[in-house]
Amino acid sequence: MRASPEKAKAFTVEIGRLRVISDSHREKQHTKITSWVDNHILPDGTMGKAIAMVLPTRACKYARAKHGGCSFCTLPSDNPLNPSDEDLKRIPDNAERMFVEKSKKYSDQILAVKFYTSGSFLDPWELPIEVREEILRRFSKKVREIVIETRCEYVIKKHLDSVKKVIDPSRVIVAIGQETMNDEINKRSNNKGHTVKQFERAVRLLKQYGFRVKGYILLKPIFVSEKLAKDDAIFSAKQMIMLGVDGISINPCYIGKWTLMEMLFKRGGYSPPWLWTVLDVTIAIKRLGKDIIVISDPVAAGKDRGPRNCGKCDNSIKESLKKFSGSQNLKYLEGIDCVCRNIYENTLIAETFSSGQGIFGYNGH
Ligand code: SF4
Ligand SMILES: [Zn+2]
Repeated sequence: MRASPEKAKAFTVEIGRLRVISDSHREKQHTKITSWVDNHILPDGTMGKAIAMVLPTRACKYARAKHGGCSFCTLPSDNPLNPSDEDLKRIPDNAERMFVEKSKKYSDQILAVKFYTSGSFLDPWELPIEVREEILRRFSKKVREIVIETRCEYVIKKHLDSVKKVIDPSRVIVAIGQETMNDEINKRSNNKGHTVKQFERAVRLLKQYGFRVKGYILLKPIFVSEKLAKDDAIFSAKQMIMLGVDGISINPCYIGKWTLMEMLFKRGGYSPPWLWTVLDVTIAIKRLGKDIIVISDPVAAGKDRGPRNCGKCDNSIKESLKKFSGSQNLKYLEGIDCVCRNIYENTLIAETFSSGQGIFGYNGH
């Protein structure tokens, strides 16, 4: 079903209104780096740890546009609203300090660092080019692999040349939150502002330069039924793999504050996916290609606002997904069962009969 122009406008007006509220809660200036340690695996199978850091950049410019950015995203709310140039220049030093502190416990197990910016690492408005280069220069000497995230529009030669100048592209994973390879879902549910064509162009260019590419898949966007969310995630992974991505990250939705997703959730119009869906999708995607690194480590798993099951099996599934993501071994995911599996399967059928196919009938593109 296609939304009328009035409904499409109301959709973005609402997201924009919520983003204004979200931005009003952001600190104007701060230099805090949030950091944690993840399991990590290199393409040659070496297992170890990665230090993830959220850098206090200006955050996503797309989110600050009038239409409010992606309908599910709350990431920029932790970043400063207006950091000064001086604050941004301090990021390499602060990141290095944080790295040293976090590494203490793991000594030689640290293989990688992941830089999250709540937006695009390659956007020079968010993170000035000289600061970006300084971060990459320093960390290229500390770890074997660096992960960065960006929207497609910043994947241009100028930015890729600037990265290539300071680090070998084969050591950099560029992650893109494409979310789905279905343009209709990205437009009507996610307000993503990326088309499949734009994503394809970005992936091709990155591969030409020798970067490694990771595609993010958003599992169960708003206005999409559980069954269709499953189909869409697997379809999108297939398309991304055909394009040549090296890794897929499955990101099951959780309810972020001041988002359209939260508004629907509070009115009973949306619920995050079941952990069964996460598990099934992870297994199916990994089976698409054993060389593809699949990460499936859901945020808020088992919590009210995150993907969940009956409550009894949530923790064990969460732990199994973690072990799988760090090892790529499907043995951790196979043979899991619980009494709620039956309820889940019946829900999928009932949902299809009661609400048809969600808003979207699924036929891929
Ligand atoms: S999901 Fe990414 S592109 Fe979308 S608003 Fe959030 S940070 Fe920006
Ligand atoms: Zn259960």
